[in-house]
Amino acid sequence: SLSDRLTGVLSDLRGKGRLSDADIDRTCREIRLALLEADVALPVVRTFIAKIKERAKGAEVSGALNPAQQVVKIVNEELVGILGGETRRISLAKTPPTVIMLAGLQGAGKTTLAGKLGNWLIKQGHTPLLVACDLQRPGAVSQLQIVGERAGVPVFAPHPGTSVGGEGALGVSSGDPVAVARAGVEQARADQRDVVVIDTAGRLGLDDELMRQASDIRAATEPDEVLFVVDAMIGQDAVTTAEAFQSGVGFTGVVLTKLDGDARGGAALSVREVTGQPIMFASSGEKLDDFDVFHPDRMASRILGMGDVLSLIEQAETHWDAQQAEEAAQKIVGGDLTLEDFLEQMLMIRKMGPIGNILGMLPGAGQMKDALAAVDDSQLDRVQAIIRGMTPAERANPKIINASRRMRIANGSGVTVTDVNQLVDRFFEARKMMAQMSGRMGMGGVNRKSN
Ligand code: GDP
Ligand code: MG
Repeated sequence: SLSDRLTGVLSDLRGKGRLSDADIDRTCREIRLALLEADVALPVVRTFIAKIKERAKGAEVSGALNPAQQVVKIVNEELVGILGGETRRISLAKTPPTVIMLAGLQGAGKTTLAGKLGNWLIKQGHTPLLVACDLQRPGAVSQLQIVGERAGVPVFAPHPGTSVGGEGALGVSSGDPVAVARAGVEQARADQRDVVVIDTAGRLGLDDELMRQASDIRAATEPDEVLFVVDAMIGQDAVTTAEAFQSGVGFTGVVLTKLDGDARGGAALSVREVTGQPIMFASSGEKLDDFDVFHPDRMASRILGMGDVLSLIEQAETHWDAQQAEEAAQKIVGGDLTLEDFLEQMLMIRKMGPIGNILGMLPGAGQMKDALAAVDDSQLDRVQAIIRGMTPAERANPKIINASRRMRIANGSGVTVTDVNQLVDRFFEARKMMAQMSGRMGMGGVNRKSN
């Protein structure tokens, strides 16, 4: 899986001021595969990766992240930005009713969506009316009626073989979807319902007649929103379909359906990139409640297939304060790290979880890592207890810790004098080693934050 592959990349711990081209290329290769596996269309992948490389090249490595993590973070941010940059609510008509038209291929989930949208609109305080304009497929009208009943939303539909809208002026032939759509909007106005959702016909494939019909309905009803409904499972085809609907009918927003399936959701990125229209809602099942406004961050991590990696990155950043890291680094360089600093760093690192899990995530703590690598959590507990048993003066200047102080600290912390000796000795060794190492590596700029 991608996560496995990335673990290899992510285990690279070289901390440095900037991302190297090799780091960027290597990580971008993995991201590229992730996007292709998620069914993002190839041209979209290319454009996206080029953008990422550009941005990654100027980026500095933050204190908390290793180079690969840094690239993943950038990718995630870009992805969330693209998916959600223009996320907006339904635009309501100044004079009701607001008209929302649904368009898309047969089986995309339009009729199901009409019910979900109706249900959602009621919860938002609206009074929707569903209009059945799919007169193509036998049973489509009664399907919408069932959906409407379940959602508690009235449905305007032509009566088979006769006319709709009662006996009078609104009567239209049951075979003309454009007339039904127009009559439906009139009915909503008459009944003072404030939102009209127009369900339309789809075909299995793209065809001119379908586009013409949808386009005619749009022209006749002048919808405030035309939502292009697309099945997330169709993957790469989403681009062709979206382009066809964009030029044939035009739309103002996208609804992604069947996200409960195993599709990784690349269609979202493709459609967004190719059409420039925002994804507004997501459907994730056949039930009325399997519906939500679109969440770019969830979709981004789904597309990348790296939920775990992303949450690790977030965790690392939350708990690793770059400023503190910088200060610690300066002290390490100067050789004047105190036991107080040591304790602070240790506590900060331990906030993130078991020591074994997190050492690898902290390039900025590379030098601390060597000092900590030999110990497990229970040993850390003891180290913590010993340092806490010291006075502030002792922590700030460990050199003053003589034999009698060692005895006092041991008694106070419930450890032996040998334990205290070991800690103090190890601390001096580690401090010396860190100062030497960081001097060689030019650590001054390592932990500068990138943003
Ligand atoms: P339409 O032809 O565009 O009106 O599509 P329908 O609303 O009739 O949906 C086609 C099929 O997909 C139906 O069996 C729906 O129950 C199913 N469906 C619609 N949306 C979803 C969804 O989000 N998840 C799943 N699993 N099935 C869905
Ligand atoms: Mg339908």
